[in-house]
Amino acid sequence: MGADSTPVDIAIAGGKIAEIGPLIAHSGPIQDGQGMFAFGGFVESHIHLDKAMILDRCPICEGTLCEAIALTAKAKAGFTEADVYLRASQVVEKAILQGTTRMRSFVEVDPRAGFRSLDALLRVGRDYAWAIDIELCAFAQEGITNEPETADMLAQALEKGAHLVGGCPYTDPDPQAHVEAIFELALRYDVDVDFHADFDLDPDNSILPKIAAETIRHGYQGRVSVGHVTKLAAMTPEALKTAAGLLAEAGIAVTILPATDLFLTGRGLQRLAPRGVAPGSVLSAHGVLVSLASNNILNPFTPFGDCSLARIANLYANVAHLARDVDMEQVFSMVTANAALQLRVPYGISVGSIADIVLIDAQSASDAMRSIAPVAAGWKRGRKTFERPRAKLYRP
Ligand SMILES: [Zn+2]
Repeated sequence: MGADSTPVDIAIAGGKIAEIGPLIAHSGPIQDGQGMFAFGGFVESHIHLDKAMILDRCPICEGTLCEAIALTAKAKAGFTEADVYLRASQVVEKAILQGTTRMRSFVEVDPRAGFRSLDALLRVGRDYAWAIDIELCAFAQEGITNEPETADMLAQALEKGAHLVGGCPYTDPDPQAHVEAIFELALRYDVDVDFHADFDLDPDNSILPKIAAETIRHGYQGRVSVGHVTKLAAMTPEALKTAAGLLAEAGIAVTILPATDLFLTGRGLQRLAPRGVAPGSVLSAHGVLVSLASNNILNPFTPFGDCSLARIANLYANVAHLARDVDMEQVFSMVTANAALQLRVPYGISVGSIADIVLIDAQSASDAMRSIAPVAAGWKRGRKTFERPRAKLYRP
């Protein structure tokens, strides 16, 4: 089904889309799309494959960010390469089966994790390249200035094949120096940057002005992302407008992680807990590139998860009070084209483009978002990678 609801055929040759149109003459194998909506697949812009599926090792009591970091740090010290490989493979397979064709995963590199997680995820990336493109962000979850050897380890990770570098200023005793250290690495290796930032509901003390200043100073517009940024949900409209303007000016993309942001923020309140989810539509209206992502699968940061970006997008749309078709289409972009733009990878179904195609059992993008439509089949570079037949009823 094309964007204007007219059914079309899509012809593939040499891993690329050769032709799009009604009733294309052909001699090769065919797949009946049954009028389903075809798109380029979901793009997961922010996930942690290394610490996924560890709920059995982490007894959650408080459900706070502080507890999640502490429990995971403890579990991480016991990760082996084989263990990370196994859990990450399971998550990647789920993602493929949910129609995800591209992914950015963080991978923690520090004195506790060593390079075990990185080595495992580099191997996962190679072993699943037939179905999904995975890029790895070498990530300092637990500070740099308090543990300076982490900076050297991040550098080694980039030399070993990590694709970009990420930091988490709010866990560092010196957030400003943390941001500078990450940019220093990014410049040295000419790689993109992805920060976890402003993950609380205090409208003040934002790190965004520092990140924006460094981005502009180094000419890094279009190469920097920030995840969570839940402070934006707590700001006054005027302060939000200023922050959005700053992000747009610096070309910084925002990744909203609704499952985690809802779970970890607003703790300790007996009633009317805030949503704690950054206002993506407002940011978009100010020209900020916004994506939505899963963040974590079954761990203390997010004790939920099926790797479905359709479900994450639906959750966000519900929390954000969205209703119109145009809003649903924007939310769909946040898990597809916007996320691809953030990762700076080619995306979309057009003649000559890479034949990454997913069929979703819906009439339109908007319909898919409203109903969390199931995906039906997918292709990576023209090769079929999965199929999920429609559920059947057996009437009496
Ligand atoms: Zn994250």
